Amino acid sequence: MSLRPYHEDHDAMNQPSLQNESLANRIHQVQEATRGISEQYPRAYIRECIDQDRFPDEMWKALGEYGLLGLTVPEEYGGSGGGVVEIVALAEALALGGVPTLFLVVTGLGRVPIVRHGTPEQIRKFVTPTCDGSVKLCFAITEPNAGTNSFDMSTLATRDGEDWVLNGQKVFISGARDADIMLVIARTQKASDVKHRTEGMSLFVVDMKTPGITLQPLNIQVETAERQYMVFFDNVRLPADALIGAAGKGAKLMFEGLNSERLLAAAAALGIGDYALNKAASYARDRKPFGKPIGSYQALQHRMALAKAELEAARLMTYSAAERFDTGEDAGALANMAKLLASRAAVAAVEAAIQTHGGYAFDRDYDVVTLWPMVRLMEIAPINNEMLLNYIGEHVLGLPKSY
Ligand SMILES: Cc1cc2nc3c(=O)[nH]c(=O)nc-3n(C[C@H](O)[C@H](O)[C@H](O)COP(=O)(O)OP(=O)(O)OC[C@H]3O[C@@H](n4cnc5c(N)ncnc54)[C@H](O)[C@@H]3O)c2cc1C
Repeated sequence: MSLRPYHEDHDAMNQPSLQNESLANRIHQVQEATRGISEQYPRAYIRECIDQDRFPDEMWKALGEYGLLGLTVPEEYGGSGGGVVEIVALAEALALGGVPTLFLVVTGLGRVPIVRHGTPEQIRKFVTPTCDGSVKLCFAITEPNAGTNSFDMSTLATRDGEDWVLNGQKVFISGARDADIMLVIARTQKASDVKHRTEGMSLFVVDMKTPGITLQPLNIQVETAERQYMVFFDNVRLPADALIGAAGKGAKLMFEGLNSERLLAAAAALGIGDYALNKAASYARDRKPFGKPIGSYQALQHRMALAKAELEAARLMTYSAAERFDTGEDAGALANMAKLLASRAAVAAVEAAIQTHGGYAFDRDYDVVTLWPMVRLMEIAPINNEMLLNYIGEHVLGLPKSY
């Protein structure tokens, strides 16, 4: 793994190879490298970007310079190497520093199918420039009518000679305005023309400057620098090399990325949860409306302590799933459980922080209630927790499908 070290005397390039390293050491290396970013770009920076409705370009560029954006991408393609453990550690460390970024989640997930199934030319064209941050990638699967039932999507790409022509609509696409390319999953055969509805979908990398793409900003109240957009495709012409992997096999390719996306969402939730608890503990040590610090009252102290214990349990599961991914084992069930538990633990942590801050929690300047939408979002996106329970019910417990 090649990360620019935070301390000059700590040369990450000379670290032993991934296979020989302990999980703790792998996480620590990324945390060390990320510390430089969090110190340079603290929460106040990201809040300023949100208020000014602008992408945190400086921070993104720095993440690229430190080699952090290149995590999971093989070094031969300009990446920094490392695996799911490393990128999960990055997502957690940024969130713990108060600067969670949805772009990291979608970049982490979006590159997986390209690196695994793209040609070397496609990897160099689409993935390599994301490693230094010069190209930003967003990801589009959700459609207004299909919602969670993604297989019901109707966005359609049809063949025209060597090219493809894309028509349809996606919704909630994070960072569409700031992205240079978008990984889109679309039907290349209508659902009515395939035996099983999981067939007939394909993955495309779409240049956002292609004529026929229009964006409509949504008014989403989540405190992140990436806004969400409705994206319309009107006869968008795509070259042959926009197709990743085989036509019609996109769903399978996509799911390989979605499992690791769950872990990135889990990691972001864990980081924000801890960030909120640290803030609450610090406030609770000082605030003394009855002469004693409110942190000494067990109603608050136990609530925070329980949230901390639940965060740590979810954290163990998250890294255990990430490690499994990296050794090539099936990590689907663990990843789903990790995202379920991490998002719930993070909501409990932020709720505890809100309770601790009393009325001040609702003052935007205290920046406490502002943490809530993001963690609450993690219970719904990228996949809602009910679907994760459905998965555990069906695939782990062997219960009948309920929907
Ligand atoms: C801030 C934000 C960022 C996002 N970023 C992106 C992005 O970058 N790219 C992208 O493609 N999408 C993105 N999304 C979309 C997100 O993944 C979807 O909102 C999410 O998958 C849920 O889809 P839906 O909103 O249509 O909910 P619906 O499908 O309408 O579901 C509503 C609720 O019904 C329940 N439910 C649904 N199905 C079942 C079931 N089978 N069993 C039990 N309960 C069920 C769940 O509680 C669910 O929350 C984003 C959304 C938000 C809000």
